[in-house]
Amino acid sequence: MSRTISKEGEIRRLYEEGYTDEEISEKLGVSIWTVRHWRRKYRLKANLKRKICHLCGKIFLDNSKAKYCPECREELKRIRGIQFQIIKKIRYHLYFLLNNSPETFMRVIKEMEEEEGPEFVRLLTKGMLENQSFNLRK
Ligand SMILES: [Zn+2]
Repeated sequence: MSRTISKEGEIRRLYEEGYTDEEISEKLGVSIWTVRHWRRKYRLKANLKRKICHLCGKIFLDNSKAKYCPECREELKRIRGIQFQIIKKIRYHLYFLLNNSPETFMRVIKEMEEEEGPEFVRLLTKGMLENQSFNLRK
């Protein structure tokens, strides 16, 4: 009985220091269920994992699989939005070229392919060449 009580005391001490269930279970060599059971008994919320943001290096608390802190996540979302807008704009111009000057279109595409690689060109021209009556790829 006293052993159980002292274990509980150790669990509490680590919990109050901010350790997660997993960390407490590892540190004390008890099962994670023991820790969870103790927490539920006292109706305590699980501590969040301390994570290091892969982008800015700041420590943040999170129990999901997030790699980035909330601020960086916001920023990345914004950047992705801008990238998408740019891609849409380039596609618009490429489509215009394709319909008005196929030769120039081909020249631009070839240049892009050489400089940025086929993956880049595939993304920018996706769906564009399917309805063409002539084969641009020779
Ligand atoms: Zn960050």
